[in-house]
Amino acid sequence: MDKSPGSQFNDDFYKNILESLEDYGVFTMDKSGIVTSWNKGAEHILGYTEEEICGQKAEVVFTEEDCRNNIPEHEFAEALQKGRGLDERYHQKKDGSLFWASGLVFPLFDSDNHHIGFTKILRNLSRRKEAEDEAVEARRYAQSIVQTSREPILILNPDLTINSASKAFFKLFNIAKEDSENKNLFEVLEMQLPPNALQEEMQHYDSFENFELRYLPKGIREERILLISCRKVFQTFKSVGQFLLTFEDITLQEKLSQAKEDFINVASHELKTPIAVIKSYAQILNMELRDTADELVTKTLDRILVQSEKLTALTSMLLDASAFKAGNINLKRENFVLLALVSEIVQEINYSNTKHHLKIEDITDVVVYADKFRISQVLTNLLTNAIKYSPEAELIVIHINVDEANQKVRTTIIDYGIGISPENQAGLFKRFSRTDSEKPHKIEGFGMGLYIAAEIMKLHGGEIGVSSAINEGSTFFFDLPLLP
Ligand code: ADP
Repeated sequence: MDKSPGSQFNDDFYKNILESLEDYGVFTMDKSGIVTSWNKGAEHILGYTEEEICGQKAEVVFTEEDCRNNIPEHEFAEALQKGRGLDERYHQKKDGSLFWASGLVFPLFDSDNHHIGFTKILRNLSRRKEAEDEAVEARRYAQSIVQTSREPILILNPDLTINSASKAFFKLFNIAKEDSENKNLFEVLEMQLPPNALQEEMQHYDSFENFELRYLPKGIREERILLISCRKVFQTFKSVGQFLLTFEDITLQEKLSQAKEDFINVASHELKTPIAVIKSYAQILNMELRDTADELVTKTLDRILVQSEKLTALTSMLLDASAFKAGNINLKRENFVLLALVSEIVQEINYSNTKHHLKIEDITDVVVYADKFRISQVLTNLLTNAIKYSPEAELIVIHINVDEANQKVRTTIIDYGIGISPENQAGLFKRFSRTDSEKPHKIEGFGMGLYIAAEIMKLHGGEIGVSSAINEGSTFFFDLPLLP
């Protein structure tokens, strides 16, 4: 670069550049450390004007402690020895306040190469230091939360070594904190975890929830079941993240739910035959006595028949639910006209229900390939629900729509009853799900019908769903694939 007099890069040019560097304080000193020049940036950062500071010892910008420890002299010595002295430390402003700065010191030489002083370039790094301190503080805070948590929580470094974990985590896997810190999680738990299952999940997804893992804790023979959630946490300016893992031991819950399942299964099996026998005896008595017995006897017999019918439906529903859960249901598909099945079921329901008006709105001869018995279960459940949960409304509308574009037939059942709140809609198709909206109406139910309907639709590869609003009614639908 041409610095000769008359060139565009004259001394003023360089001075202007120095003055414009607001974030950089640049000043020169003589050999004894007396300030000889001072740019605007230095004024901005340290608070002294050029007139105030020139002629003073540059030591004033160091902290008292650094002066006592001869830090300024060390900086000069290092600059002379190595050609530059670099340091990050607190410096002191004119008002006495301290700030974190990086300082770079160079020796200055005249044209005959005689040492004449030093230049110092100072940069205010307070904001960066604050951000770093905050990050360290936040990390410490997060670690103390993890360590004191009563839940099993684990922080893994990007290389899968254990960063920190709660006591509950060490207890869960029956391992000692000292034996595992800074070691690879999967090496520490090698004997307990099935190979790769969790590791693979972590490699594929940055975050996941409720990953089910079965493992054998050290020294214990019984298998345990965990739900693991994981989140990758990225730190500022770092491209690799740590993993935050939480563990929930659901072994006991699973055992209890299996025990409940077994009990329901056995009880329904055992009840099935006696209920069928009661029902047949009641039917025989009904036939024999209908014309001769008095009113009390016939009424009692009617009640026995109705209740045994309900019990039959209940036990077969429970047996069905167990069979679906165990995956023991196979479909028997056939071709049939959907509208014919819907009309048949509507007719059957109309025998026992005179209050509600069930209206089929579309006439279509569309044929579906499905398990007729199972689809009739879905339809019966949706239609009896529409009636049951519409104590004040009478109309129920049924649509059958052929969707050629998506190659499916949608059956929709609309009621104008009590409706279902949005928060209750999500879990509706789970086992034993009952909402709180039916409580004020005291409508009986078991919370199993929609679960079975959803399982039937799953086997058919069709969707089932609902849209609903409280006190406005509900629209349930299910889809069946169109015949190719
Ligand atoms: P059940 O009716 O025996 O309780 P279901 O599984 O058929 O069991 O239904 C689950 C729950 O969904 C019901 O308890 C009820 O709260 C709600 N529900 C189902 N259908 C309707 C509907 N048409 N209107 C309002 N709520 C409904």
